[in-house]
Amino acid sequence: MLSQKTRYAIRAMQHLADNYGKGPVQLAEIAEKQNIPANFLTVILSELGRVGLVVSQRGRDGGYWLALSPVDISYGDLIRVMRGSLALVPCASRFAHEKCKNCVEEGECRTRALMLRVRDATAEQLDAVRLSDRIDPVPGFTDDQLEA
Ligand code: SF4
Repeated sequence: MLSQKTRYAIRAMQHLADNYGKGPVQLAEIAEKQNIPANFLTVILSELGRVGLVVSQRGRDGGYWLALSPVDISYGDLIRVMRGSLALVPCASRFAHEKCKNCVEEGECRTRALMLRVRDATAEQLDAVRLSDRIDPVPGFTDDQLEA
């Protein structure tokens, strides 16, 4: 699964994309609207600044804005810079590759071969969707669905 940090980064970037072209957005606004702890958000925004996705300006009228147009940032790009693994098993991850305990030879493992396919399909989906694309939220699961 994506780390909490990556999920916060995605929500912060969606907020900045919604406000693209409208001037700097204050950290307190992003924290409140996206329900992200302010201290953690400061760290995340500074990391996004270091990789060139976010620009900031200090001072009373300062804040944060996207360094690129939302149309030029894909979800795949964003997850990769946050070092989020897209793989379901560590041996299928390119950024965070690890073998599991008592591993069989990677080149002979069918589980890994299948999980690589799943990873590549996930990456394809995430690379095809940009921050500018409309994504309609879907209702949360009901208790019955969660128990099924
Ligand atoms: S056993 Fe298979 S799935 Fe597990 S780490 Fe080794 S190669 Fe990957």
